[in-house]
Amino acid sequence: MIQALPVPEAHRARRGHLCVTPTLQLPDFPEVFAGGDCATNTENPLPPTAQVAYQEGAAIARNLKAIAEGNAPSPAQVHLRGSLLKLGLSESAADLFDRFEIKGKVGHLIRQATYLELLPTPVHNFKVTSEWFIDNVFHHFGSSIHLAAAKVGSQEASE
Ligand SMILES: Cc1cc2nc3c(=O)[nH]c(=O)nc-3n(C[C@H](O)[C@H](O)[C@H](O)COP(=O)(O)OP(=O)(O)OC[C@H]3O[C@@H](n4cnc5c(N)ncnc54)[C@H](O)[C@@H]3O)c2cc1C
Repeated sequence: MIQALPVPEAHRARRGHLCVTPTLQLPDFPEVFAGGDCATNTENPLPPTAQVAYQEGAAIARNLKAIAEGNAPSPAQVHLRGSLLKLGLSESAADLFDRFEIKGKVGHLIRQATYLELLPTPVHNFKVTSEWFIDNVFHHFGSSIHLAAAKVGSQEASE
């Protein structure tokens, strides 16, 4: 759909992405706004991540409201909160605001808390929390069973 739009090559970034102004408007069609993965503000390119898409979506909504009320649209302000990387079942690396790096189990807790904070409703929170809890219980349970089976196996081999 993005490729089929009548946007000239001069206003396309790599892989056919749409170039947008700081207010997230298409230069050739100012009545059209674009944000997220399909759009690039060449003055301030941002990584194609969900946190950017969410904030640009909100900025577009604010600008549409401003135009409807007869005001000028404002440049989108996107604040990068950092990166979270899962390392195994219970360890993660958290890079907060490009300033602090926290690894291991504390990093994992920060990652989980961030995901919970971003979920839209308490029902989603409950579903995700119970799935994490079940995963953890079965992981520890599963590891204990494997360990016990390995011990029995090595005892039998030595007898
Ligand atoms: C495997 C993977 C893992 C990722 N992990 C992370 C992560 O951990 N953290 C993070 O921040 N970001 C992550 N991302 C990136 C993140 O998913 C994107 O940056 C974000 O989803 C961009 O949002 P968007 O609304 O721009 O596009 P999308 O979320 O891709 O939404 C585009 C929507 O348009 C719809 N669509 C497409 N074509 C048409 C059409 N012709 N007509 C109508 N609708 C159409 C699609 O179905 C889709 O719903 C990941 C991406 C991938 C692929």
